[in-house]
Amino acid sequence: MTNSLTKDHPNAPLTSALDVAPKVLLHDHLDGGVRPRTVVELAEETGYDGLPTTDVEALSGWFVAAANSGSLERYLETFAHTVGVMQTPEALARVASECAQDLAADGVVYAEVRYAPELHVERGLALPEVVEAVNAGFREGERLAAEAGRPIRVGALVTAMRHAARSMEIAQLAVRYRDEGVVGFDIAGAEAGNPPTRHLDAFEYLQRENAHFTIHAGEGFGLPSIWEAIQYCGADRLGHGVRIIDDITVGDGGGATLGRLAAYVRDKRIPLEMAPTSNVMTGAAKSIEEHPIGLLRSLHFRVTVNTDNRLMSGTSMTREFRQLADAFGYGLDDFRWFTVNAMKSAFIPFDQRLALIENVIKPRYAELVEAAASPPA
Ligand SMILES: [Zn+2]
Repeated sequence: MTNSLTKDHPNAPLTSALDVAPKVLLHDHLDGGVRPRTVVELAEETGYDGLPTTDVEALSGWFVAAANSGSLERYLETFAHTVGVMQTPEALARVASECAQDLAADGVVYAEVRYAPELHVERGLALPEVVEAVNAGFREGERLAAEAGRPIRVGALVTAMRHAARSMEIAQLAVRYRDEGVVGFDIAGAEAGNPPTRHLDAFEYLQRENAHFTIHAGEGFGLPSIWEAIQYCGADRLGHGVRIIDDITVGDGGGATLGRLAAYVRDKRIPLEMAPTSNVMTGAAKSIEEHPIGLLRSLHFRVTVNTDNRLMSGTSMTREFRQLADAFGYGLDDFRWFTVNAMKSAFIPFDQRLALIENVIKPRYAELVEAAASPPA
């Protein structure tokens, strides 16, 4: 697949550089990135019989088609299946290990991967057992990726579901496991009708504990959701935040005027975890070409590029980068900027972020830029 894309691509050197360029991923769902073959095998091992097909190829296509159908029911059904097979410690550890290995193979050097522990207790696991199984899987995946010559570090974010009532328990898990691989907290789920302020006690608890959190906001719902996430809840980052574009006016001459909320987000360098393919699939953006990331990058918002759900969107970090290169003419400088933005915005300690930027990201981009400037004769 890589070869044919490279061959047909008008900018082949950039495309192959993007395959190996170091990447940082802040917004990726564990249950949205399971390998199709693993879904089939785990369904068989755990006695889950709800899959639409047990043919791996057909299942792979089914996931993307269902997620892209425009039907919320079919979209949610995709997660019912992945979550349905992730109900034992062994299954959770396997999915987490494969996630780390797949991201490493995609050139990701640092990732924060999120999941909702409360969705993995259907067969009797306690919440801490879910967290410990996923952590063990990430450590195993890191070890195997390093052995394969693609070192990666993976931090976990524990997610609470915004329509449910367990956010305080999940926030407490984030704090309990903060020194054992959990780097932060998130809330996800339908935005409309479930404002983040419903979970204010959890956010206030995390703030008192000096803990980090992000909130899915400004994806399905507009500016009020972003405003509440930042100004009431104190979010460190915004999951997507695409609708911040509604607070920016572009004049006939191309000049942009920022409203007070957009200006605040930019002034405070609040990171936006954008996932172009996913945003188009959910209708948060019309197309990759019209995705707000183009304007926001030119206005120097703290924009990052993410995958969200690799299985349902049929995507990877490399694919997201390529699409942006095609849509906006981005080159290696732009992708280094996105990558450094993401690393600066990670939830691990400052000195560790800096070490990855200075020792891994910048030197490798410098090598790629040099190689692009002097192709072999
Ligand atoms: Zn998400």
